[in-house]
Amino acid sequence: MIVALYVRVSTDEQAKEGVSIAEQKERLQAYATSQGWREYEFYIDDGYSAKDTNRPAFQRMVTDVQNGRIQAVVTTKIDRLTRRLLDLLQFTDFLDENECVYKSSSEAFDTSTAAGRMVLQLLGVFAEFERERIAERVKDNMQHLAHQGKPISRPCFGYDLIDKQLVINEEEAKWVRKIAEMYIEGYGPFQLAKLLNKEKVLTKNRGQWSAKAIRVFFTENRMLIGDLVWNKQKRKGQKLIENSEEEWIVAEGTHPPILHKEIYDAVQEKIDKTKGVAPRSKRSNYLLSGMVQCGHCGSRMIGTFSKWKKEGETLRNFRYICSNYQKKGLCFNHYIQTEVIEPYVLEKLGQLAKGASVPIHGYVETSTHQKKVRDELSQAKRNLKSIGEKWQRQKEAYEEGVIPLAELKDDRTRLDSEKLELEEKIKVLEAAIEDPMNDKDIQKFIHLKAKELKEALSSNVFEIQQNAVREIIHEVQVFDSKEVQLSFKL
Ligand SMILES: [Zn+2]
Repeated sequence: MIVALYVRVSTDEQAKEGVSIAEQKERLQAYATSQGWREYEFYIDDGYSAKDTNRPAFQRMVTDVQNGRIQAVVTTKIDRLTRRLLDLLQFTDFLDENECVYKSSSEAFDTSTAAGRMVLQLLGVFAEFERERIAERVKDNMQHLAHQGKPISRPCFGYDLIDKQLVINEEEAKWVRKIAEMYIEGYGPFQLAKLLNKEKVLTKNRGQWSAKAIRVFFTENRMLIGDLVWNKQKRKGQKLIENSEEEWIVAEGTHPPILHKEIYDAVQEKIDKTKGVAPRSKRSNYLLSGMVQCGHCGSRMIGTFSKWKKEGETLRNFRYICSNYQKKGLCFNHYIQTEVIEPYVLEKLGQLAKGASVPIHGYVETSTHQKKVRDELSQAKRNLKSIGEKWQRQKEAYEEGVIPLAELKDDRTRLDSEKLELEEKIKVLEAAIEDPMNDKDIQKFIHLKAKELKEALSSNVFEIQQNAVREIIHEVQVFDSKEVQLSFKL
């Protein structure tokens, strides 16, 4: 038979004095020695709260009690065992049945005596009482504030406070629902912020959205499902400390929800998954990263941003700046805003895709260019062949009476235009293989490429868009912060 020395510390207690695992162990060991116990064993739950008894070491101890291995359970204080009276009473009853006792080393009593059992119960009652009292005090404070006309909770984006009531702001709520769904579909906080800013939707502080603002807005914001939560943080000196979830005070259904519970839960799950991923602004934020060149000195122009605060909201200004100036003070101070150059480049590519002629200031043949051309040529030929086969199959289907004449005609039109496009492409590619390209061929080749990339170039997904730009653009030269010249990859 041994004595079980039980040690528990919750994650938010770890920094508290007198509660650390080392301190609890030291005290229990001293106590065991003073009682003359030689055979003892530590059961340690590190990072578990007392809200239930679902803790690995605790459960192991229960099994050992059942198996008759343990004669006594000792903790430094009762609250190490549990904070719930019911759990406490059940546990001591359970020990009784198994001829085991419970002792607290700092509270001078044990369950091996009737008096000890009574004191234990009383202490348990007080512990529970204390917890509920704190909760009530906070609630009282909130109600008190409400009576004085001070808002209980600041409305988040999507709500307004009217006559001390949270009321849905339909204009904002529409966006909340939309971005929540987009978030679940895989759009990142950065893209959502970008979208809202583009649509001129302002935050509750009348500022612009950032990826962080989106994340903060969605993280455990139960206001969106009609609940109010208080006591999430406490003040310790100058600092705000997060309270553990069991200390929160939740009032459910206090106002109309904007999001369905399932949507809200899906968003929370997504947030948990992306925790720890570097925020967008720390990764490459710049569509033309590595492609912009200073027209004056030939150095790379690098993406950078300046930020400042306005009414509590951090605003950023993104631009490409001559690295020769920024790093060494050479060349001269010139830059171009991302919101000028990026739309410009995308627009030019869009025009190219439509067949418009765009000045081409140069091009490079990538080393694998000829191989690519050959690959594309054979792919185009295969596609052309399969069009013939498709047409044959559709014709048979019509003859068998499987499809009506109208459908056959539609197919004919569609397949004809596909065929024409392919034949044109094959001509260009064959010419490119036979002899070095002339300007006309180059134009044509770039047109075709832009056309193929059209969808990707207008994608909402940053990475897809950036890859498409990289696929076609070799370099973007900038002169005097305004003149932009494009050179292409072949
Ligand atoms: Zn320069």
